[in-house]
Amino acid sequence: MAEIEIDGEMHRLLVDHDLCMGTRVCIARLPGVFSVDDDSNLSSASNDVLDPAIIAAVREAIDDCPQGAIRLEKLG
Ligand code: SF4
Repeated sequence: MAEIEIDGEMHRLLVDHDLCMGTRVCIARLPGVFSVDDDSNLSSASNDVLDPAIIAAVREAIDDCPQGAIRLEKLG
């Protein structure tokens, strides 16, 4: 579960494993942030705090996931 600051507030980046189909589009959009487990074929976000400068790429990954499996949630 990665975290990223948006407009001064921390958010977590999540993959819903009930929806993910392992298409790996997210890895193409954000290599180094998402990885897909070879056994489960499910994507997960890294445990890193992400650079706020990559928010556009994060939103692109969310928009481009064919399963709608990626979301941002505000923390706190
Ligand atoms: S793009 Fe979406 S469906 Fe494909 S691996 Fe990533 S999270 Fe899963």
